[in-house]
Amino acid sequence: MLTPYRPEPYVNFADAEPRQRMLAALSDVRSRLGQTYPLRIGDKKIDTDKQIASIMPAASATVVGRVGKATRDHAEQAIQTAQAAFKTWSRVAPETRARILFKAAAIMRRRVYELSAWMCFEESKSWIEAYADTCEAIDFLDFYGREMIRLGGPQPVTPYPGEDNELRYVPLGVGVVIPPWNFPLAICTGMTSAAIVAGNTVVLKPASTSPVIAAVMAEIFEQAGLPPGVLNYCPGSGGEIGDYLVEHPRTRFVSFTGSMEVGLRIFEKCGKVAPGQIWLKRSVLEMGGKDCILVDETADLEAAAEGIVAAAFGFQGQKCSACSRAILHRDVYDTVLERVIARSKKLTVGDTTSEENFYMGAVIDEASYKKINEYIAVGAKEGRLVLGKSGGQDAHPALPKGGYFIPPTIVADVDRNARIAQEEIFGPVLAVIKAKDFDDGLEIVNGTKFGLTGALYSNDRFRLERARHEFHVGNLYFNRKCTGALVDVQPFGGFNMSGTDSKAGGRDYLLLFMQGKAIAERL
Ligand code: NAP
Repeated sequence: MLTPYRPEPYVNFADAEPRQRMLAALSDVRSRLGQTYPLRIGDKKIDTDKQIASIMPAASATVVGRVGKATRDHAEQAIQTAQAAFKTWSRVAPETRARILFKAAAIMRRRVYELSAWMCFEESKSWIEAYADTCEAIDFLDFYGREMIRLGGPQPVTPYPGEDNELRYVPLGVGVVIPPWNFPLAICTGMTSAAIVAGNTVVLKPASTSPVIAAVMAEIFEQAGLPPGVLNYCPGSGGEIGDYLVEHPRTRFVSFTGSMEVGLRIFEKCGKVAPGQIWLKRSVLEMGGKDCILVDETADLEAAAEGIVAAAFGFQGQKCSACSRAILHRDVYDTVLERVIARSKKLTVGDTTSEENFYMGAVIDEASYKKINEYIAVGAKEGRLVLGKSGGQDAHPALPKGGYFIPPTIVADVDRNARIAQEEIFGPVLAVIKAKDFDDGLEIVNGTKFGLTGALYSNDRFRLERARHEFHVGNLYFNRKCTGALVDVQPFGGFNMSGTDSKAGGRDYLLLFMQGKAIAERL
């Protein structure tokens, strides 16, 4: 019997058993580094001439694995294979499709430590961040499976005399799924499984910095009984095959999560009708953020400091929901800033595949490392650098060598229009901004082009109520951090340049991958 959906519980790595199991998984995964993963198109596993090497961010000389690198010919083959598989997969009963997701969830649950360990190596996630990523992947499978059962049958319509009327949802066709690297199992599984369970077939182009965990996910779907051709694993460069897949006339929809720049490019391309294309391409685009935490003078200041630090520096600030702006009421500015600095100084940074269970690991790759350090140099000019140093790794002799480590960095007294207060940095850099009063605070909150997540710490009921209307973000939190949305607890998606507000992990999400068909029979 199907039990109601519940989010997967976390473990506490201070306890002996989870710690031991994590260490064993890390050691097991370490022994499997450097393997090769082929493309998966239909029932074929294809080795390619060129490969993408997935590099370990905490030890850049170590290769986590090598995956096939698809050419345009492979991309074409993948689209054609997905198109052929759609004929049969779209007719498979929704319950059957859902059961494949439940089976995949069960496999992931059994392999939770191993999957998490892969992300410690490939992403430099801390143990708990990696574990939470795996739990979220399981949640998506469990939730979307149940959602498809709910949406799979005829939907309610108003009865009409002399007619038998029904509305049912049917799948769209071939979808291109393009996930980001930062939740490499959770988001990749969520985007892929939603499209598939709705009856579509997909070509998955994983991010080039996290293709190994995506290969493991594809293998799990196969073990769970997904027929060949429904999910085609096709890593390759965004520039080389990304555009080709997006522009292809047989592509019915594109499901993308990533940066604003790439999202806008896909948005534009989907708006153009290619020769031979007989539909309007749908695009689901979830993009970046410049998320913030606003603290007023009535707030619990210790709780606010704790929330800011966790949301700014968890997973090295590389969450789309990460707090990159702390907006503090002038009466409590100095106190909160001082407490945020004190807490941030205590965070540990190091290789998360070691025994130490560090709070923060390395940032994803060299390009990110350079970009974040450039922003720190900009920030040092735009404000007062109160924690961290401008000057990259050399400025921090205590940090481990050989990886892309950046410690928690805080820039105070930042102007609301400064670059580091407006542009997404995607690293452990927090801009602290002073607000004159609550109204001014709300103006700063809403003063960027993004609108993904935000939090307000306040004990004033009427301000909380105002914020419900005026704090313009897709995911708003009161008196808690702005990261850590759970599937179907806080459906996720942003406003403005943060995307199409698809609300992943919510009850409207699967409808994005289907179309409604109304059927009327005269009796
Ligand atoms: P990204 O650079 O935009 O890449 C995302 C994906 O797009 C990758 O698979 C990438 O492939 C692919 N891509 C690049 N160029 C492409 C093209 N021309 N055509 C098609 N695909 C292309 O983003 P990222 O660095 O992976 O992820 C970080 C970003 O994602 C941040 O901005 C973050 O805020 C955002 N994000 C948003 C959400 C949300 O729910 N709103 C959630 C997570 C992350 P390659 O890796 O091969 O370049």
